Amino acid sequence: MENSCIFCSIIKGEIPAQKIFEDEDTFAFLDVHPINRGHTLVVPKIHYANIYEVPDDVLAKIMHTVRFLAPKIKQAVGAEGINIGINNDKAAGQLVFHIHAHIIPRFEGDGHAHWHGNPYQDGEITTIRDIIGQEFK
Ligand code: AMP
Ligand code: ZN
Repeated sequence: MENSCIFCSIIKGEIPAQKIFEDEDTFAFLDVHPINRGHTLVVPKIHYANIYEVPDDVLAKIMHTVRFLAPKIKQAVGAEGINIGINNDKAAGQLVFHIHAHIIPRFEGDGHAHWHGNPYQDGEITTIRDIIGQEFK
């Protein structure tokens, strides 16, 4: 638990939230600024900042809850699809540094277009594969 963390405060009940589920290790509540109705956040009860810090077993527990809830949320709000996402670092849009998985109900034509891919230049894709490969040699 971190004193300055808004999600730790929600888990402790110090800040109100619309809880939809909790178990021993995880807590799920509605995002107050939803992309679509039913947008839910799943957090571990123990504070870890992001994907770099969270232990494998805790990440597995987060994803276990995500998979449990996703079809229920989809059904409840009549969604046609679900995006699952974890933002890591400011540059990737992380605003709250207590790891959380977004469960985002999606609807055909809801206006939240998929990100636009950019093509690699000639040969660049193999260079990128190689420099990533160097990181775990
Ligand atoms: P991220 O940008 O991945 O860090 O996502 C943080 C999310 O937390 C945003 O979508 C916010 O709308 C949401 N959020 C921030 N404060 C609260 C809160 N008090 N209760 C519910 N959701 C929150
Ligand atoms: Zn926290």
